[in-house]
Amino acid sequence: MSINDKLLRTRFVVDSGTPHISVDTALCEGCSEKPCLIACPVECYQEQSNGVVFSWENCVECGTCRIVCPRGAVNWNYPRGGFGVCFRYG
Ligand code: SF4
Ligand code: SF4
Repeated sequence: MSINDKLLRTRFVVDSGTPHISVDTALCEGCSEKPCLIACPVECYQEQSNGVVFSWENCVECGTCRIVCPRGAVNWNYPRGGFGVCFRYG
């Protein structure tokens, strides 16, 4: 089963306005490898002309970005109860 097929069975309850992850993008400016860009399975991290941009709405809470970030820029928490990702729907 492809990652896209798996994601189609995934339900998100977005806690609008309350990100469970925040990124100190000032630290990203000095990050040469930027492993988050390839490590996040759902591409929450994107490199744009003004630097790394993070969006949390599709996060599957794998925790990879917290581990691979070499500069401690990722402030990671689980979403509040009742919010976040639910696997194996559909
Ligand atoms: S790995 Fe960490 S410091 Fe580097 S670009 Fe990604 S979030 Fe920023
Ligand atoms: S926890 Fe996983 S899915 Fe969520 S932003 Fe980090 S790497 Fe991406």
